[in-house]
Amino acid sequence: MPLYIGRFAPSPTGPLHAGSLAAALASWLDARAHGGRWLVRIEDVDTPRCVTDADQVILGQLAACGLIPDAAPVRQSQRGALYQHALDRLIAAGLAYPCACSRHEIEDAQAAHGISRNRGQELIYPGTCRPENGGLAGRRARAWRFHTGRFEQQARASAPAESARSEASAVSIHWTDRRLGAQAQHLSAEVGDFVLKRADGLWAYQLAVVVDDAAQGITYVVRGDDLADNTPRQIALQRALDLPTPSHLHTPLVRGRDGEKLSKQNGARAVDLSDPAAAIRAAARALDLPLSSLSGSVQPTLDVLVPAWATRYGLGDTKRSIR
Ligand code: GLU
Repeated sequence: MPLYIGRFAPSPTGPLHAGSLAAALASWLDARAHGGRWLVRIEDVDTPRCVTDADQVILGQLAACGLIPDAAPVRQSQRGALYQHALDRLIAAGLAYPCACSRHEIEDAQAAHGISRNRGQELIYPGTCRPENGGLAGRRARAWRFHTGRFEQQARASAPAESARSEASAVSIHWTDRRLGAQAQHLSAEVGDFVLKRADGLWAYQLAVVVDDAAQGITYVVRGDDLADNTPRQIALQRALDLPTPSHLHTPLVRGRDGEKLSKQNGARAVDLSDPAAAIRAAARALDLPLSSLSGSVQPTLDVLVPAWATRYGLGDTKRSIR
């Protein structure tokens, strides 16, 4: 079996809720089912959203559920030098450029190009500050962006055998999720030049997660479905920085009664740990694991769930879609 290092990477914006506990349990079960290591990384780069001591609360909740990391947790807030080094490499490769545009200016530029944005859709940056479009033109740099167009050009140039495919398919990022099956995304058209360092000076999730997954030697990423759409951006950064791409499994999302994704932003409640084994069973149900033989305390519950996970999520078979 290949080396397995997995991780759970909570943002300390509040205590774990039913959805984040399910994500934690999924990554832990996958690591245990593979006989691998399981790490915890506190993703506290977005400091305005972080809540004091939420990291300690989360680690306490994990421990109450028997989910103990195999090494001391790392904190992204202490890793800025690594992110800067990665950004410098991207700049040197011509794959990152400074951007002076405010949100308002981006919306105006989109309107001028006849692009309207549906509510809730991400803003596709129109490329105003790309070097070939004149760069900053004397304006003050606010953020740093990844040049998806140049990345795709470089990828195309280094893969002539792909030329038989359609242009969009050849430049798209293709990946296989262990649950969702074959996926593809054409980054420049569907996402645009995404932010690596924000206008407020904070590191963007995409860059931090890629640098840290590589630095921690993560070989398997198991996380909630809501993050699946980020994967192609992360794969692009891995390729641009010459880093390995881990295997991916995106688990079913836990939804509230209204069918909406549970999140700290929409007020999802902290998971009730008065009976941790019951909380684990609820998380297992959300992950579509059989519960018939489950009862008792935390450890026997986890012991039963490890083989159940291995069966449900087809270990080693990355081609089979088991949606
Ligand atoms: N920190 C992210 C979150 O809490 C998860 C990042 C990841 O698993 O890649 O949503």
